[in-house]
Amino acid sequence: MGIMLLRLLALLGCLVVLGLAAEDFYKLLGIQKDASEREIKKAYRTLSKKYHPDKNPGDETAHDKFVAIADAYDVLIDEETRRIYDQYGHDGIEQHRKGGGRPAQHHDPFDLFSRFFGGSGHFGHGGGERRGPNMEVRVAVPLRDFYNGRLTEFTVEKQAVCSACEGSGSEDGVVETCDQCGGRGVRVMRQQIAPGLVQQVQQMCDKCSGKGKMVKHPCPVCGGSRVVREPETHELHVEKGMPRNVRINYENEADESPDWVAGDLVVHLVETDPQFGTADHERTDGTFFRRRGQHLFWREVLSLREAWMGDWTRNITHLDGHIVQLSRKRGEVIQPNAVEVIENEGMPIWHQHLPEGVEEAFGNLHVEYVVVLPDQMDKSMEKDFHGVWEKWRKKKGVSLDQEWGRPEGPVKMPGHDEL
Ligand SMILES: [Zn+2]
Ligand SMILES: [Zn+2]
Repeated sequence: MGIMLLRLLALLGCLVVLGLAAEDFYKLLGIQKDASEREIKKAYRTLSKKYHPDKNPGDETAHDKFVAIADAYDVLIDEETRRIYDQYGHDGIEQHRKGGGRPAQHHDPFDLFSRFFGGSGHFGHGGGERRGPNMEVRVAVPLRDFYNGRLTEFTVEKQAVCSACEGSGSEDGVVETCDQCGGRGVRVMRQQIAPGLVQQVQQMCDKCSGKGKMVKHPCPVCGGSRVVREPETHELHVEKGMPRNVRINYENEADESPDWVAGDLVVHLVETDPQFGTADHERTDGTFFRRRGQHLFWREVLSLREAWMGDWTRNITHLDGHIVQLSRKRGEVIQPNAVEVIENEGMPIWHQHLPEGVEEAFGNLHVEYVVVLPDQMDKSMEKDFHGVWEKWRKKKGVSLDQEWGRPEGPVKMPGHDEL
């Protein structure tokens, strides 16, 4: 009983000290205990944008969450502090910080945000913050993915704020004001162009190349440029029935720079040319369906016998592997190029285009029948068929020329006799 009480008191003590920040760091970031560095960064990128105070004006909870996320990131991204946290929890981290653990590890949450997205840690809305250009990439997926929906990934190479120097360009973090221009980046020169006539010319400062700032020891990773080029992988959710050429926005994921807030990365989703793969699911007939909006189109080849006599079935494998069976009974004729519309076997309709209250709907599959005649026949087969035709031609045959009243010879045009 006594021990329980002590534990309770200790727990209360912790809560008082840490306040709301006591939420588990892993839970806060929505990651597993064994999350990789990449997963931690990704969680931070997603959550910090979501809870950024600029996006949630006046919302104290969002603000606190934004701060807590930055704190969780700082602790978990560093091997040493992560180990301390895993072993001793929030208490351990508190002790470590009091005991002079590397202060650089504790970022101002807005600084941290700016390391990921550039600028000064704020979004560009109204604050006069400069915004970088948007970036557009084309991602091509097969029709099958548009039909079934798929969670996939793509990688883009982009400019990112150098994490080694945190965008300062300096190895030791020291950035000095240029002594030649006093930080203005320009120098005013006086030139005498004629006796008594002096012109003032503004020139870019050559010492700092107009930056106004100087770095004695450039960062070895970015060479002092403050940015690096690096690949970044994003998740892409191809939703069922998404229109071809749809544009998907990834907020603030374009090129980064310490001088601006990153613009948006815009994914332009296109369809790859149809091609059989090696796996069964990549070899369905559906692979070669053609899409127009919510409808699908397919050409099915019939033999003369099938088209004329009927009595056949066909199993078409659809984009998700299910079978659409086509068939005709004996005596059911199909004319060449006839189109059969099979309802609800087209594309799923994208959720954004569904009418209110409808959960699922599909377009139609249009099957066009192409009839192919044999161009070679077995001699005896030819004889048989010929015999049958001759028999029926004699009995019932008509001459279409006669029926339509066509003449037997050419028709003479009037008016040429004078020549
Ligand atoms: Zn200068
Ligand atoms: Zn650097």
